[in-house]
Amino acid sequence: MELGYWLGRGVEAFREWAGTYGEFAAHTATAVDEAACAAAFEELTARLRGSYPFFHPCYAGQMLKPPHPVAVAGYAAAMLVNSNNHALDGGPATSAMEEEVVEQLAGMAGFAAHLGHLTSSGTQANLEALFVARESRPGTGVAVSAEAHYTHARMCHLLGVPVFTVPVDDRGRMDTGELDRLLSTGVAGTVVVTTGTTALGAVDPLHRIVPLARRYGVRVHADAAYGGFFRLLADEKADGEGAPVAPETGDALRALARCDSVAIDPHKHGLQPYGCGAVLFGDPDVARFFRHDSPYTYFTSHRPHLGEISLECSRSGAAAAALWLTLKLLPLTPDGLGAVLAAGRRAAVRWAELISASPYLEPYQPPELDIVTYYPAAPGSPPPRLSHVGAASKEVLHRGMNAKEDPVFLSVARVTADAFTARRADAVADGDDTHVLRSVLMKPESEPYLERLHQRVEQLAKASWPAPRASGSATGE
Ligand SMILES: *Cc1c(COP(=O)(O)O)cnc(C)c1O
Repeated sequence: MELGYWLGRGVEAFREWAGTYGEFAAHTATAVDEAACAAAFEELTARLRGSYPFFHPCYAGQMLKPPHPVAVAGYAAAMLVNSNNHALDGGPATSAMEEEVVEQLAGMAGFAAHLGHLTSSGTQANLEALFVARESRPGTGVAVSAEAHYTHARMCHLLGVPVFTVPVDDRGRMDTGELDRLLSTGVAGTVVVTTGTTALGAVDPLHRIVPLARRYGVRVHADAAYGGFFRLLADEKADGEGAPVAPETGDALRALARCDSVAIDPHKHGLQPYGCGAVLFGDPDVARFFRHDSPYTYFTSHRPHLGEISLECSRSGAAAAALWLTLKLLPLTPDGLGAVLAAGRRAAVRWAELISASPYLEPYQPPELDIVTYYPAAPGSPPPRLSHVGAASKEVLHRGMNAKEDPVFLSVARVTADAFTARRADAVADGDDTHVLRSVLMKPESEPYLERLHQRVEQLAKASWPAPRASGSATGE
């Protein structure tokens, strides 16, 4: 897939189509000078070099990677039209594509029927689900786990809905006993279940939460913004080899089919550029909560417009086109897009083994998906002291990213002292919280690069003890 060629082909196809409407004069008001353009463009590309190398496997930090070239080509081709999927008036071609990809996402989740649409983000998708939750369970609150994405509390505040935080177990998953206790009080009408938490990639036991919630007549919304695409790895393979995720994780992901709503971000694990989340509802009747009229749009068709089932107005039609083209080539099957996720998952499992065997690193917890958490081990492995763990983790982060040669980009996650000691009972809790290292291995390229990444991180960890510098003017190595 030669990106330059397909970008050019997109421009050409647009011009061919535009040409069918006949000649017209371009206006001088928008004309730009070729030399000025060249200078400004060079300045732009130079400034972009101030980014971190998300494309390279030496970047093993946050949930960031470039879109697939197919998505870029599809996006650019459609962006030339710049359709708006708010209404069929704005994007007849790309609205149809959106319906098709949403159907594929609903199929992946296992929904028998669905109502859904793309959104500009996972936050927006969750907001719409929480809005429908509020309308369907008026006067009740929302239960979220302590590890749920921070935007849930924020969006509930926006919606004027109380939030109840449910503690997590020693792997960062919602504690079902605690949830049961909360639901028995009747204060929560909806539970938000995270299948793939942002910090740890922990999958709440959705398969156990759904029956529990049903017993109390409580709605279930799955925040699968990060983890939703791992549904492709949840089933046993035909050859009898086990599924790439643990059986309990597979059970939780299969239970997406039984939720009232699901948020999934194609701009996280669906190879898309930003601006592509999705919300799915199992009951198409929830469309009634979105009912509104627009004096400006909805003229060209009596078919429902996507804007009639969405809280956003303008939305990129190109985002739908990009996802549509990507799923044509890498469909939502274990061998299609699933193979991309499986490589990252294998890399995470393998790295966790290497970390456990290393004298310089300690695992924080085993990876449930493709997020690895770990921290530098003190020489001789005495009980970890939280302040040292945090300082050494940050030291590794800073030394790695500032290294003149062979830089490596990691991230850190803040964890409470309770969470740490739940995993390491002998830890010395000399503070309320600490930081551990966190690597999201969401690029399949991480798999063949893993030994090198591990060696480099080991080297950095070794150099960060025994005297982690208290504050961080990291000057590189
Ligand atoms: C990323 C993420 C979100 C927020 O999605 P955006 O697309 O960044 O708005 C919500 N929940 C989870 C679990 C996430 O990982």
